[in-house]
Order: sequence, then structure tokens, then C-alpha cells
Amino acid sequence: MDPHVIIIGGGFAGLDAARVFADARVRVTLLDRHNHHVFQPLLYQVATAALSPGDIASPIRWILRHQQNAEVFLADVTAIDTTARTVTTDGGTFSYDFLIVASGANHAYFGHDDWEERAPGLKTLDDALEMRRRVLLAFEAAERETDPAAQRRLLTFVIVGGGPTGVELAGALGEIARHTLRGNFRHVQPESSRILLLEGGPSVLATFPEKLRRAAQKSLEKLGVEVRTGCVVTAVDADGVIAGGERIAAQTILWAAGVAASPLAKSLGVPLDRAGRVAVEPGLNIAGHPEVFVVGDLCAFVQDGKPLPGVAQVAKQEGAHAARNVLRAIRGEPLQPFRYINFGNVATIGRGSAVVDIGPLRVSGWFAWVFWLLLHIFWLIGFRNRFVVLSEWAWSYITFQRRIRLITGTKDSR
Ligand SMILES: Cc1cc2nc3c(=O)[nH]c(=O)nc-3n(C[C@H](O)[C@H](O)[C@H](O)COP(=O)(O)OP(=O)(O)OC[C@H]3O[C@@H](n4cnc5c(N)ncnc54)[C@H](O)[C@@H]3O)c2cc1C
Repeated sequence: MDPHVIIIGGGFAGLDAARVFADARVRVTLLDRHNHHVFQPLLYQVATAALSPGDIASPIRWILRHQQNAEVFLADVTAIDTTARTVTTDGGTFSYDFLIVASGANHAYFGHDDWEERAPGLKTLDDALEMRRRVLLAFEAAERETDPAAQRRLLTFVIVGGGPTGVELAGALGEIARHTLRGNFRHVQPESSRILLLEGGPSVLATFPEKLRRAAQKSLEKLGVEVRTGCVVTAVDADGVIAGGERIAAQTILWAAGVAASPLAKSLGVPLDRAGRVAVEPGLNIAGHPEVFVVGDLCAFVQDGKPLPGVAQVAKQEGAHAARNVLRAIRGEPLQPFRYINFGNVATIGRGSAVVDIGPLRVSGWFAWVFWLLLHIFWLIGFRNRFVVLSEWAWSYITFQRRIRLITGTKDSR
């Protein structure tokens, strides 16, 4: 019988691993707790009512429909036993010859898990819908509120974390408040909303060159976003946050900071870094197990003395490399060390503004935004998604509108 490869996770890393096996003589089982792959870089657009969940996600079963040697199971993996070579799920136990663990990471609250309820993070489609609900509900509640101080609190939005996700969320909120909702309310002016982006480090977009960081901050400020750097959040409660020693009364707090690796890492019984990510060998396998690979956000791979960042390109390249190493092992060849090729970074700041840092190309502004837009269309999975997203963006660009302003879920379940 052909060797059995189990892949845990159908994110960027897991899917790219599965695809490498398309013509290989192996049996592939992909396990994921969700039935869909999410294009996470555009989650903030669902959270800010620009796109629908279906525009940025596709069923994993559908993505792999032509790959006859691959089966997909909806299953939550609860443990891995590297001695018995088994994976335990909520729906039974699977045995493997080779294992690729690609279960990703989640946001972290730096030891304050109780903050999550007041300050939700963004990782899944459900998270994005919850953020959208909270943002739109805040405007609705402000419209009914008669006390000016309470109204002010309802129209104050705090985003914690000045990485790409925080910057993109802040930019999109600025655009919603200043353009999309203008004239839609009778008792409040959405454009008077206060949007704060709080970053503990010295600047936003820390991984970008200085010039682009400054350009991003300027674009945010043009959208009315108050950017505070060197500002550490020390409390999150029913009233808002305490940041940099100051209390900020805010109804809506969105979390875009910190990373904690999938708890599955613990069951591998190997060293983990501070974020719970797995230290791997140069071939992306774990020490003493040439048949177990860890890739993507769950993997702590150090290259040239620095850990690789948790971004899609790293996950994709690691996933594909681990799969190629599985095929090498099956052929009796040694595992090849992994080396990441960095194609660069991009981030957008609201309508018509972005920063691009790719090789010698370091630009900001409108052309950078068009580049960002085309890149994301290219990356999206499926022709339908590309077509729908492009037409939604074109429509929003022309009309300043966001079509998906729907409040779903229970109004009072906050
Ligand atoms: C809001 C946001 C914006 C981002 N923006 C960018 C960007 O602009 N550019 C960029 O390069 N990167 C961006 N990233 C980072 C990028 O999305 C990640 O680096 C990438 O998704 C990591 O891929 P992965 O396959 O390791 O994990 P993921 O894509 O997270 O996939 C993990 C998969 O494992 C599944 N899973 C987890 N635990 C289990 C379990 N116990 N059992 C079964 N299945 C499980 C999950 O359901 C998921 O499908 C962003 C991330 C977020 C959250």
C-alpha cells in the first residue's frame, strides 16, 4: 500500500503541502476543524463590511476535488502520539507514516485571556463577523443614546496592535466613519468618531522600512486615526482600556496583537519558543522524527539568526518544502534543508493607499494600493472569488460604499 501522509490544517501551509502530492504515489488525509480554507489577509475586509465571508473562503474539499489521492475530513485534532504514529481527533484516531502539522496560530493576550471577551481578535470568519457586528452595533447604539458622554464612548473605537492587521483595520474603520456612514444617521455624525490605533513598540508596521512606516502613519492620520506608539495597554474592562497610563472610554475594542501557536504543539513533546511555536530541524522535521514535519505559523524556523515571520509566504514555502521532503524520504534520499525566499511585504491603509516593500520596490500611495489589490486578487483561490472581490472593490471605490453592512447574531449577546 502507498505510504499514508496526514496533514493537519488546510491553511496556506497545509494546502500547499497537499498540492505537492498531486501526482505522487501516496495517500493523503487532510484534517481540519473547519470545512473551509480562509484567505486571512482579507479577513479585515469581512470585519469592516467590505466583503462577504464566501468571497474570501473556499471549501477545502472543493479545492482538492481533482486530487484523487487526497481525502478530506472535518475533524478537530486533539492529540498527536509520535511514538505510536497516531493522530487523535473528535471523530476517531488515524495512523500515519508521515505527518505534516500545519495547524497555525491564534492571537494572544499576553497572559490576560479574560480580555478576549471585550477585545476580540481576528483569525476566523466567525471572528470577522463578530467584529463587524460590534462595529455596526456601536453606531446603532450611539444613534439612540442621548447622553453626550455615553455617545462619545460608543463612537470611540480602539484597535490594539500596529502590525498589518491593526493598520488595515484602523484604515478601514476610518473610511467607514468618514465616508461610508456619512449622512446615514440623524442623531450622530459618524465622521466625528474617534479611532485610536495603539502600538506598544516605537512604530506601526515594524517590519517595513522607516520611510514606509512614516507614510503609513501619515495615511492613517489623514483618515482621522489617532496613532499612538510606545503605548502599552495595561487593562481592558467594561469601560474601555487603560493605555500608556491613560483611561480611554471606548465601547469597541479590537485586538490585533500577539501570537500564540496552536496548542497541538505541546503534544509533540519537543522544545517550544515563548509563543508556543515548535523548534524544527533544518529539514522542517522535529528532532528524532524524520517523519514528522511542522510548518507555517506553528513552526519556529530560524534563518540567518532570526525567526521567520508568521506570514502567508513563509507558510506556503514551508508547506511545499515539507511535502517534497516527505517524497525524498520515501525515495530513501536525505531531507533537504529549508531556505525561505522573501518576496517582500505589502499592507494597505484604507481606500487608495498602501505600502509595498518588495525587493528594490519601496513605494507608498495609490500605485502601491493598485499593486496590493492585484496581488491579493492573484492570491485568492478560485475564479469566482477573484471576480466577485474585484467587482466589490471597484464598486466600493467608485461609490465609497460597503455593501455588507449587516448586523447578524444576537443584538444583546455582547
Ligand atoms: C487577520 C490576519 C491578517 C493577515 N494578513 C496577512 C497579510 O496581509 N500577508 C501575509 O503574508 N500574512 C498575513 N497573515 C498571516 C497569514 O495568514 C498566516 O501566516 C498564515 O495563514 C499561516 O498559515 P498556516 O497554514 O500556518 O495557518 P492557518 O492559515 O492559520 O491554517 C491553520 C489551519 O489549521 C486548522 N486547525 C487549527 N487547529 C486545528 C486542530 N486542532 N484540528 C484541526 N484543524 C486545526 C485551522 O482551522 C486552519 O484551517 C494574516 C493573518 C491574520 C490572522
